[in-house]
Amino acid sequence: MKIKLMRKREGVYNEVRKERTDERPIEAATVPEYLVFPLNMHIGAPANPIVEVGDKVKIGTLIAEKKGNISANIYASVSGEVFDISDQPTVKGIAPCITIKNNYKEEWEEPFYSENDKLTVTQMKEVIDKAGIVGMGGATFPTSVKLSPPSGTRIDTLIINGAECEPYSTADHRLMVEHAVELIEGVRILARILDVNQVYVALESDTHDSAEEMKKIIDQEDHIDIVELETIYPQGSEKNLIKKLTNREVPSGGLPADVHTVVVNVATALAVYEAIHLRRPSIERITTVSGEPIKEPKNLRVRIGTPISYLIDDCHGFCTNPGKMIHGGPMMGTTINSGRIPITKGTSVITFLEKGEALRSDRTSCIKCSECLNVCPVSLQPILISQAYENGDLDKAERLGALDCIDCGNCSYICPAKIPLLDNIRAAKKEIRSRQEAK
Ligand code: SF4
Ligand code: SF4
Repeated sequence: MKIKLMRKREGVYNEVRKERTDERPIEAATVPEYLVFPLNMHIGAPANPIVEVGDKVKIGTLIAEKKGNISANIYASVSGEVFDISDQPTVKGIAPCITIKNNYKEEWEEPFYSENDKLTVTQMKEVIDKAGIVGMGGATFPTSVKLSPPSGTRIDTLIINGAECEPYSTADHRLMVEHAVELIEGVRILARILDVNQVYVALESDTHDSAEEMKKIIDQEDHIDIVELETIYPQGSEKNLIKKLTNREVPSGGLPADVHTVVVNVATALAVYEAIHLRRPSIERITTVSGEPIKEPKNLRVRIGTPISYLIDDCHGFCTNPGKMIHGGPMMGTTINSGRIPITKGTSVITFLEKGEALRSDRTSCIKCSECLNVCPVSLQPILISQAYENGDLDKAERLGALDCIDCGNCSYICPAKIPLLDNIRAAKKEIRSRQEAK
């Protein structure tokens, strides 16, 4: 696979692979008989199950309650019965899950609030919190927490992230084209909650039709700007977008709020619209299923909890044997090995690679070409962090800024010596974080 990387000087320029799905309208995915809801489908503490095996549920029944500040509620996405509560394979490994057996009656739970209620800003935040909305670009950070910056922190800029940079992913693109009206209404709600005067909707230049759709809607609103950025990887990373659009730099170890900015993915903004206007919790999402081995790649509207195997069937299976299945894109995603793994709130794309694409060449010695430094969008020295980790020197890895790595994978992709830089840096980050938590 070859893509165009962000780098500090000119160099490798190749293509992305969105052409198989970027003009394919979103289709409804098959709703399976059994749906699996991992309790850890968000960042932060796993949710607490509040149902038992045998309980009846409807679409929108709360089945697991958030636990702690950085956690999110989980809702049934079908009506039926709780079939099982046990450990199951998930994208984060074996984890506790609730399995629901679908009765196909499509019965809905009562909405969160009366249609006649005029929600205040505080009530809107409560609804977003209750709805279990998390960052649907993949970060899965609870949106209500983002919308409540620490007291004394003034937010003046909202960035809506439609810069979908993984090479096969088109779910956000189709969402912007087909749901521009609802999306922009979600953007207005977010702007009102944060009380900001400046909103940027950022997307990449190869999704020009999305920009056209949204411009038609926001014609009269001076404070919302649609910004078309160069198609380059990883254009959609939070820190990069903030720097590009506001010229502000998020400090090392800091958050966007430190530079008076909040960044929200387009799918999340749509979920906000659905919670506030349709009074619906987070129960479905749009996911791209693509890659050369897939016979008919698609953008699918999927109920949360649907095992990936159903989406493969919706795409009519494979035309060649896949060498790798990835939850996410090839640059930042996680390799998985079971079609039982369910779609969660953070699943924006499932990518399949051919055997040849998936092969990793043998590692050789670093030739000190500096390419990994040149392509790092957050100006780290990937080889030095990787070496520090391999030498067991976590202090040095931390001093070199390992925790600022955004997991983009540019360094591993470009490295001619095939050193597993990202793997090492991810492992270093994990160990540094566990060490910090243990203190
Ligand atoms: S060090 Fe992290 S942020 Fe820098 S290129 Fe490698 S993966 Fe991307
Ligand atoms: S890109 Fe690979 S070979 Fe080049 S300096 Fe970085 S680690 Fe070494």
